[in-house]
Amino acid sequence: MRCHGLTSDRHRCSRDAQAATNFCAEHQPQAQTEPRAEPAPAPRGGIARLLERLQPALARNVVPDDANFAVPRWLNKSSTPQVIERVLNDPSCMIRWSAAFVLRKRRDPAAIEPLWRVLQNDPVSFVRQQAAVALGKIGTAAVLTPLIEALWHDQDAGVRQACAIALGNLGYAIATKDLAETLNRDYAIFVRWDCALALGQVGDFSVERLLEERAEQDQSQVVRGACRESLEEIRKRK
Ligand SMILES: [Zn+2]
Repeated sequence: MRCHGLTSDRHRCSRDAQAATNFCAEHQPQAQTEPRAEPAPAPRGGIARLLERLQPALARNVVPDDANFAVPRWLNKSSTPQVIERVLNDPSCMIRWSAAFVLRKRRDPAAIEPLWRVLQNDPVSFVRQQAAVALGKIGTAAVLTPLIEALWHDQDAGVRQACAIALGNLGYAIATKDLAETLNRDYAIFVRWDCALALGQVGDFSVERLLEERAEQDQSQVVRGACRESLEEIRKRK
């Protein structure tokens, strides 16, 4: 498997991962700071919903997902390797999108690598966007690098926005710097908006000053408002 690390310009590392980790020798320190290498067992059913209500921090990485779309029945019934084959290679972008949606609902970490490839390579932006959402719902630490890479480099603002939303919902502090830099530099208002909100969800104090500054200086009123909202969130946790 290829290393899960990112280069300094936020592209995926091109070296092979060492056995038993997701990282090459150079990125091993990153492996140690990863919040979690394996998915925590997701609580299910009524108990999970109760837990989410009572202890949002505990249930944080099980991001709720109410979305419902009518995907083809045969696809829903296919095995996960078959669905992965479709998301990667089906000539129809509607089928690739639907396959990404099915994988999103299954939350199977086996889909992380193929969804990453879709996010990097699919020519159709709404398929890449669905792949980003699906990675966010899988919710292990291993999805952070694909989401951060696409937040920096995807040409489509809708895809970058999906990445910002997912990183906010996941709430890993490791994404703080990338969200902050995107808030500073992205030209698309709704990408900056979701980065500002995501920083409030992640809740890292280090961005307090940046949020104060953007709450005054961003060109867009909605972004300034989101920065103020997130500042309140962060200060509540102090
Ligand atoms: Zn590496």
